[in-house]
Amino acid sequence: MKGKVANFISLMLFLLALSRLSFASTIAVSINPYYLMVKEIVGEKAEVFLIIKPGVDPHSFSPTVKDVKAISRADLIIANGLGLDEFYLRGYKNVLYLGEKVPSEILEGEDHHGVNPHIWLSPDLLARYIIPSIVEEITKLDRANDSFYKERAERLINSLKDISKRFDELLQSRRNSMVVLDHPSYFYLFKKYGIKILSAEEGHGKQPTISHIKKIIEEAQKSNLIGIFVGPQFNKSAIEVISRELKRSYHILDPIGIEAKGITELFEKAYRTISEALDEG
Ligand SMILES: [Zn+2]
Repeated sequence: MKGKVANFISLMLFLLALSRLSFASTIAVSINPYYLMVKEIVGEKAEVFLIIKPGVDPHSFSPTVKDVKAISRADLIIANGLGLDEFYLRGYKNVLYLGEKVPSEILEGEDHHGVNPHIWLSPDLLARYIIPSIVEEITKLDRANDSFYKERAERLINSLKDISKRFDELLQSRRNSMVVLDHPSYFYLFKKYGIKILSAEEGHGKQPTISHIKKIIEEAQKSNLIGIFVGPQFNKSAIEVISRELKRSYHILDPIGIEAKGITELFEKAYRTISEALDEG
């Protein structure tokens, strides 16, 4: 009899431990903007691991042994896709590629180099397609907290809609003006307002040639220039040349949110940076 009770108790303890374990899902996230969003949605209810640390250029990243361990341990991997981060995720079946959730007619190329992958830099795309897809997958992992996740996601979506309205007010009247970027990152944000992007990099991750830089300078001189921007992760030499020639200072426009505590903070900062550039122009 005693033995049976002891067995029963140890069985219960075992089941309790098991249920605890199954609650804490692990989610690996490829880049910081998605990490910020996932953290804001799950709070303490899941373990979230950021694969590419902010400050590291996602285009030249390669995973360490520790990264590979964390990735293979994850219940869910959240990545961008569209050529940005598939190369180290091949072979994993539990990857949510957010690029696949944005309708293909919205995706666009820069010149003729393929689709622009920076879909997270549009508050509209985040609110409409990306955050709903993230919540859907997270809820599948943990049905018990369904309403918790949905509520927090809703709040996030609303704050992104607010910031999107402020960008509308700032940029809607700037149709046909121009921005110079080091890297074609804020593509979908500027595209919404018909603002032309001159990117020092010819396409994604393609280093600029001297003749390309000359062309940018000539085009920018002829048009209404909103500003010159460079990401803190990238090489500034081409942008410095352009800035000197155009006699306009350049501004740091961060596509990854190096110091941001949340995704809205990334856009708040971008909003301030673009406003500052407009004031100078
Ligand atoms: Zn990029």
